[in-house]
Amino acid sequence: MTKEFKPDAIIEANPKPEFKNDEYVPLKKEVYVKAGDMMSDKGYEEAYFADVIRTKMKRDNKRFWAGDNISDYLHEGDKERLIDEATEAFELVLDRLLIDRENDPNSKGTARRLAKMYFNEIMAGRYEPAPDATAFPNDSDDRYEGMLVVRSELRSMCSHHHQPVSGVAYIGIIAAQKLIGLSKYTRIAQWCARRGTLQEELCNDIAREIERATGAKELGVYIQAVHGCCENRGIMAHSSLTQTTVLKGAFKDDGNTKKEFFDNIKLQQEFAPR
Ligand SMILES: [Zn+2]
Repeated sequence: MTKEFKPDAIIEANPKPEFKNDEYVPLKKEVYVKAGDMMSDKGYEEAYFADVIRTKMKRDNKRFWAGDNISDYLHEGDKERLIDEATEAFELVLDRLLIDRENDPNSKGTARRLAKMYFNEIMAGRYEPAPDATAFPNDSDDRYEGMLVVRSELRSMCSHHHQPVSGVAYIGIIAAQKLIGLSKYTRIAQWCARRGTLQEELCNDIAREIERATGAKELGVYIQAVHGCCENRGIMAHSSLTQTTVLKGAFKDDGNTKKEFFDNIKLQQEFAPR
């Protein structure tokens, strides 16, 4: 016996509700708020705090790329607010990846761990002000005039894939009128590195910040690093090494100074290979 098809009575009795244009139901929070609205007190309350900061930076034409420091726009306690918001966003990413963060014990706190790791560790150099590098005078008769080469361990992250970058920077200067503590070279290099970077830009950033801290015009920065994005994905190149060099002043123009810098690097590598 063939059954006659009958449409579901309930569906038929309840046609689709009509969407009324004048009825506005916010989903949770405004993710994007127009710049004009943001300036009003009302806009501030509704927006994500990260959007408020972003609007201020746009208003000031402040660049906020992955490798830029934005600490001027943050006050005490702001980072905790941003971590809370990023946790929410990472929860959404895990949901979209179809990872059961409610029942999988290993994924339960992952969203918050990720948010904290980004702000406090792998991208800390974006949110923290420059390390305090007290300069000591180097202007007496017996001032140090030689070359100084410091090797700094680097941990960074490529801004393209958010994969780890690990390596060393060799920072060389001919001492100028002031000197900074030896550990400060590494602190400055790591502050530049703990962001989303490109190795080429990182090399430039370290050179610029060392110049700013020491006043040295003669300087060189050589970085060698392995990139997670080349090792763990894509070409899966497990022995690839990327080298970048920035040379300024005599390091660039004088063959002997340049040679001394690279000879020192080789001596350092013999002293403690890596
Ligand atoms: Zn990459």
